[in-house]
This record gives sequence, structure tokens and C-alpha cells, in this order.
Amino acid sequence: MIGAHMPAGKGLGAAVRAGKAIGCEAVQIFTSSPQMWRSKPVTPKAVDELNAAREETGIQMVVSHDSYLVNLASPDPENRVKSRDALQAELGRCGLYGIPYVVSHIGAGMGRPVEVAIEQAAEEIRAILAATDESVTLLAETTAGQGSSLNSNFDELAALLAAVDSPRLAVCWDTCHLFAAGYALHTEAGYEEMCAEFEAKIGLEKVKVIHFNDSAKPFASRRDRHAALGEGEIGAEALGRIARDPRWAGVPLLLETPDAETMHAENLARLASYRAA
Ligand SMILES: [Zn+2]
Ligand SMILES: [Zn+2]
Repeated sequence: MIGAHMPAGKGLGAAVRAGKAIGCEAVQIFTSSPQMWRSKPVTPKAVDELNAAREETGIQMVVSHDSYLVNLASPDPENRVKSRDALQAELGRCGLYGIPYVVSHIGAGMGRPVEVAIEQAAEEIRAILAATDESVTLLAETTAGQGSSLNSNFDELAALLAAVDSPRLAVCWDTCHLFAAGYALHTEAGYEEMCAEFEAKIGLEKVKVIHFNDSAKPFASRRDRHAALGEGEIGAEALGRIARDPRWAGVPLLLETPDAETMHAENLARLASYRAA
């Protein structure tokens, strides 16, 4: 399944239709503004509109990305509670919309020991999962490792998953972030080594979504800057190897490349050609 993060300014139904128009088989959206704590309640009309668009386009797989403000590992008690409430509300909205996956950056320890940050995030995730519908799974995204953000390596992810211990917590890979964090997926050997490490520490079946981006910044730079497919430091050959890997047959590969309005169609065509090669 290939697709893209689609702007949802005109509503979720419109985002799904716009995705279909450029060749998406799956779509990622924000259900609420990613820069704001407050969100509007989900109306039955909005649910109907999304369902009608899914019916019409055949796009069943819709994925949500949470607010950028959420930091479950925040040392600030007020920010911690706001983050919990916001992510819980996000899972609540997705339950109403029938959206199975919420991708989240989880958080950053802000200078505290990693174990403390992970334990706090795990505690918040357990509370959020307990308060929300079973149909929604939270996906912890691999990060580029900028600042003190958690989950730029598989040991931290494994510790978080073990601490939460729920089938409703899984993983979203991001090819740009993994590369920036120092996983050498631009080479065949490095990619296989990364897959083997993930399989040993977590299990590849836990990868439910892959954000499919090239990287504008070099290998192991710990800088998070997405690039158009084949125009970055990962390159078309390596991205093609990942796109054709039969292990991802049922996993949505979703673009988060720049200039959605003008470039998503082109990037999606490139992704489709990688897969077909
Ligand atoms: Zn991503
Ligand atoms: Zn990114």
C-alpha cells in the first residue's frame, strides 16, 4: 500500500479524495490542527463525510498523526497533563472516525535520564490506552534523534514497548529519521542489519506504518529534514529496495515529503515506479 500525508484543511473526506486523485492507496491526515492544543469535537456529519469518501475511493486505510505539541515525557507537570489529554483526545477522535492507527513522536526527556523519560511516557500511554477504544492502536514513530527526543534507536523503542506491554502500542518507521539517526538503510547490508536488529529487539510485525521519505541531511546527522524521493541522501536505489521488500506487503508506505500541493503526485509516481521495478 502506498500513499501520502494529505492536507485536511477542507475536511477528512476531501483529503481522502485528493489522495485518490494522485494515486494513494492509503492516506495519513491530521484530525486536528497539529500546532494547537485545542480541538473541535467530532461531529456525526464529519464521520459520514469520511466514510462516504472511503466508500467512493476504496481507500480504507486512513492513518492519523498526532499533534506536534505532545510530549508524554515532559518534566513539566502541566505540559505532561496537556500532552496526555491531547493524545487521549486524538485516540478518541480516531475511534469515532474508524481510524486504526495514530502515529506519535511520543516525547523528549528534556535532559532527564532516558530511563526516567521512557517510564513516564509508558505510564501515560498505559493510561491513554485504558481510556480509549480498543480499535485504535498507537504507533511510536522512530525519530531522527534531534535534541532529547526518545525512540531514535531500537533499544529505547524496545524498552517503551516492554514497559507498556500492550498489543495496542506498535511502531511507525520513518526512513528519513532512521537514516538520520544512524541506521545505514542506504546500503543493502546496512538495511538488512537494521531489519535484523529490529526483528531481534522488537519484531518486524510491530512495524504497522512506514513514513517513506528521502533525507535532505546526511547519514547519522540527527537532523530531521525530509526530501523528495531520489533527491536526498538516501537515494532512489535504496528507497526502491525498501519499497519492493515483500516484508512490507501489507504495510502502508506513506510520503511526508515537502511541497505536498505541487510535489505529492510526482513523489507518489516515483514510489509506484520503485515498487513496480
Ligand atoms: Zn514521519
Ligand atoms: Zn521527520
